[in-house]
Amino acid sequence: MEHKMRAAKDFAKELVQNETPRMRWNGTEDPVRRQTESREKLASLLGMDRFEPCPLNVRVEFERPWSGHTETRFTFESETGWTVPCHMLTPKGTPKGVMICLQGHSTGMHNSLNRKLYDGDEDAQSGDRGFAVQAADRGYIAVALEQRAFGECGGTPRPDCYHAAMMSLMVGRTLLGQRIRDVKRAIETLKTHFGFAYLPYYCMGNSGGGTATVYAAALLEELAGAMPSCSVCTWEKSIANTVHCACNYVPGIARYFDMGDIAALIAPRPYVQVNGKDDEIFLLDGAKDAFNEAKRVYEALGAADKCRLVVGGGGHRFYAADAWPVFEELTMNN
Ligand SMILES: [Zn+2]
Repeated sequence: MEHKMRAAKDFAKELVQNETPRMRWNGTEDPVRRQTESREKLASLLGMDRFEPCPLNVRVEFERPWSGHTETRFTFESETGWTVPCHMLTPKGTPKGVMICLQGHSTGMHNSLNRKLYDGDEDAQSGDRGFAVQAADRGYIAVALEQRAFGECGGTPRPDCYHAAMMSLMVGRTLLGQRIRDVKRAIETLKTHFGFAYLPYYCMGNSGGGTATVYAAALLEELAGAMPSCSVCTWEKSIANTVHCACNYVPGIARYFDMGDIAALIAPRPYVQVNGKDDEIFLLDGAKDAFNEAKRVYEALGAADKCRLVVGGGGHRFYAADAWPVFEELTMNN
């Protein structure tokens, strides 16, 4: 009888689904010690040891009024040879904190400012993606940071991750790890150059920006909280379920972590996980499973009230009216 051949992608999906995350907290050991060990492992998988340190070399390019706030355009160096552009909105009055705003796959960070540069930006900006304006309107210093392979850091108006992600793997890096590096160095810049060392730092983003948000908050303890949207979900119900952009794949990740285990590294800091009821890329049942995995660790640390799942009534987008009040409630005493 003829043997029916399988598609390799189906076999690979089965491999991912059958993997046991080896760094998952087992419910009995010291959860804090496990977090420390997990951060080390995660940093190693992301290639966080591959960066050559350099001075920040901050350059302020302009300052002007924007949307009722002060807009400052600046750049800093994240590692030798790599410059990151940012737009910062500073609200009037005493700021509540600093919010790092990360767009997903789009034409770039200007979408966080509701600024139209390219045809189709209206579509990108629908779905509450003007994160920086929202944050500044709510009293946060908002920093829209251009992530690698997007916008000004992509070489083209369209997101261009594939080749950058694959070549990074050749030298033991990941595109995601490099994005986390840029967030870390942005925080250093804001603390040391702009004098905001006294404020709490947060991170938010949707889709690819949410993925960077959850990894950044897991690794960077200088972040006091995180609000990733439409990005946290089990591998089975997201990355392994349908073809995703190359920037999502971290070598070896499923052997050690599912995404909920990564979110668990944010505990006990405020964590608002936003998902869309009808999101077809990050399925809601997988999102709930991932959230519950993280919540186990929040409970173990006596911080069950510091993590919340917000489910918006639609698809793959951010839900500002649902999410912001929860974020402000959870971070009220920060
Ligand atoms: Zn990508």
